[in-house]
Order: sequence, then structure tokens, then C-alpha cells
Amino acid sequence: MSRIYNFSAGPAMLPVEVLQEAADEMLDYRGCGMSVMEMSHRSKVYETIIQEAQADLRTLLGIPDNYKVLFLQGGASTQFAMIPMNFMKNRKAGYVVTGQWAKKAFAEAKIFGEAVELASSADKTFSYIPDCSDLPITDDMDYVYICENNTIYGTKFKTLPNTKGKNLIADVSSCFLSEPIDVTKYAMLYAGAQKNVGPAGVTICIIREDLITEDVLPQTPTMLRYKIHADNGSMYNTPPAYAIYICGKVFKWLLKTGGLEKRKEVNEEKAKILYDFLDSSELFKGTVEPASRSLMNVPFVTGDSELDAKFIAESKAAGFENLKGHRTVGGMRASIYNAMPVEGVKALVEFMKKFEAENKH
Ligand code: PLP
Repeated sequence: MSRIYNFSAGPAMLPVEVLQEAADEMLDYRGCGMSVMEMSHRSKVYETIIQEAQADLRTLLGIPDNYKVLFLQGGASTQFAMIPMNFMKNRKAGYVVTGQWAKKAFAEAKIFGEAVELASSADKTFSYIPDCSDLPITDDMDYVYICENNTIYGTKFKTLPNTKGKNLIADVSSCFLSEPIDVTKYAMLYAGAQKNVGPAGVTICIIREDLITEDVLPQTPTMLRYKIHADNGSMYNTPPAYAIYICGKVFKWLLKTGGLEKRKEVNEEKAKILYDFLDSSELFKGTVEPASRSLMNVPFVTGDSELDAKFIAESKAAGFENLKGHRTVGGMRASIYNAMPVEGVKALVEFMKKFEAENKH
């Protein structure tokens, strides 16, 4: 068996220990004689799996009792519509537009009401996080929305916006569980699992309880109401049972390996190795303003699209997978989520140095 270093922005690498354990339990989950994949989600065994997953996530993030944890389907993209349907009671909300995913959420919100662009970094190809200390937030806005880590452009909010007392809703898909956070600063945060926590197919939503009501926009379908999922413990219908089981294993792995404090330390170490190299390189250049750099997604270019293509091909041949930048921006991007080991980043930098030596004019 040989495993490559996978720098994909998602679905992404998972800890080897987690995959091995899941493989060991594949045919016979702890004496049940069947896989978790084959199990009724209403069974006692599965109930323990989902409850433990939730309890471990609560411990990891320090989620207060007045927040619900929901395991939903439809990807992070379904949240773009669920959020306005459930929370846009005054039909007005503010959006900070820092990249493609924020733009999509903003466009979706416009279907339901007045979505106001509070700030944007579109003027410089989303290469920075705009100043959010004094946003034009008005009293009639139902919430303020951000995408905290911008997967495609590699930017991250280092401080949360001043929401002037309004509820903050954040898409944390690509920075979830990468470092400790204060959950109470958010009214809601949510993440698609396929980057830092598990397989695609489950979206984790953490929502302050008082926001979860029956007072939603008219014609909101049952499946798109948070209350129905909260009232039914994420089991209103068949949940993405196997994906939740794997997420649960990742939560246990995170707890066992030092929790989110340790993750932050390792993620900072990995990011520093890569950014320090980019800052010293004569060939490669990071595309993000240093103050806004993400710990998870690191885009870079050579400035020559032919050389970029050569690098992507040669790196792939050398065992570094998925370094091609997003199709909308080109260049390269290394996504270095929790499961990417420090050695993977060091090996990449060594490869980049060699490539630079061979291709410098
Ligand atoms: N939000 C962010 C920050 C993302 O990076 C992505 C996907 O990469 C999405 C939302 C969309 O997620 P999904 O494909 O699960 O709908």
C-alpha cells in the first residue's frame, strides 16, 4: 500500500488511523455482524454512534448547552438557502462578499429578500479580507453573514466582523476544527464535512437554540426547516449515517491527539513552512495579502501559466496530488487540512525548491 499526499480542497485526506479503524470495522462493526453502512439508523447501536459523535464534537469545540448540533444533508450549498428561509424574518440581511462561496450564498439570499453587500474584496480578486470594523449594518437586518475561510482564494477572517449586535452566521466549511473558537460569538456556524472532518454527504450546523423556531418564511419545505431536524435529533429522515460515523471517529482522533489547541499549533507550523518558502522564493509567489492568509488553503503562482501547468504535472508524477488551483482562478493551491502531516508540507516544499532550481531562468 502506498498513500500519496493529497492537497485537495475537498474531499480531502482523512487521518490514516481513522481509515484503518473503519476498514477493520467494515464487515462486522463490533460484533454486530454488519457494517455501519447496513445498519438501521433507528437501532440502539447507531443511536450510540450519533450521540457519541455529537458529545465529542461538543467537547472539542466547547459548545454551550444552548446551541443545537445538527447533522444535515445537501452540502454546505443547501445552507445558502436554508439560512434566509429560516432567519430572514424582516426579509433583509447583510453579506460580506469575500469569494465565490460567499457570493453564492449572497445570490441565494436575494431570492428571499433584500440581501445587502456590506463589504467586498472583489476589487482585488478576493485576495484580502476587507475591514469589517464599521460595516453599514442597519437595525432592520436579520443577520450578518460571512464565509470565514475562503477555500478558493485562501483568505481567512483573523477577527470576526463587528456585527453591531446582529446575529453572526458563518460558513466555516474549510476552517472547521482547525483551531479553537468561541462558539458564543456566532448565532450559527456550519461546515460541509468533506474538508476537515469526514466524507462528503454531511453538513454540521451549530445553531443557537432561540433562533430555531417555527417562524420561517412561508412555503419553506419541511426538510429545509431547522426545527424539524432539531426536534428529531437529526433523524427526521434517514441521516447520512455512515458519514456521521466517520466524523465521529475524526472527533475522537482530534480529542486523542491534543484537541484543537494542538491542531492550531500543528496547522500554524505547516502553514508557516509553506508561506516562509513562498516569501523567499524567486519563482513561486503567494497570491494573498499576508494579513489575510488562511492556515488551510494556500494558493500560489509562478506568473507563467505554462510553468504552472508543468509544475502541476510534475508534482502529480512525484506523488503530490491535487495541487491545481480552482478552475475559476488557475495557478496552484495547496490545501493543508488537519489530516495533512507536517512531513507532507515539508516534502512539498523540497519538491518546489527542486522545481525552482530546475526552472529558474
Ligand atoms: N462553502 C465553502 C467555504 C466551500 O469551500 C464549499 C466547497 O468547497 C462550499 C461552501 C460548498 O460545499 P458543498 O459542495 O458541500 O455544497
